[in-house]
Amino acid sequence: MSDELIKCDCCGRKISKSSVISGVNYDLFTSCFDKHYTRCDKCNSVIDVNDIYWRKGCKYCSHCYFEEGE
Ligand SMILES: [Zn+2]
Ligand SMILES: [Zn+2]
Repeated sequence: MSDELIKCDCCGRKISKSSVISGVNYDLFTSCFDKHYTRCDKCNSVIDVNDIYWRKGCKYCSHCYFEEGE
């Protein structure tokens, strides 16, 4: 099954499974993933780029941002 193709949810391109980042609600080509998602600098969980919380140049998910407080 190494040539199994998956459709990217972003651009619709068919890509091989090894180039796909799969999440709960998405399958994305790696470069498309970078456009729409990033990772929390603290817990490394995936965050939508619209949901990034910035503090001192670091990216946080809402959970880590509010947990750290201050
Ligand atoms: Zn795409
Ligand atoms: Zn986090």
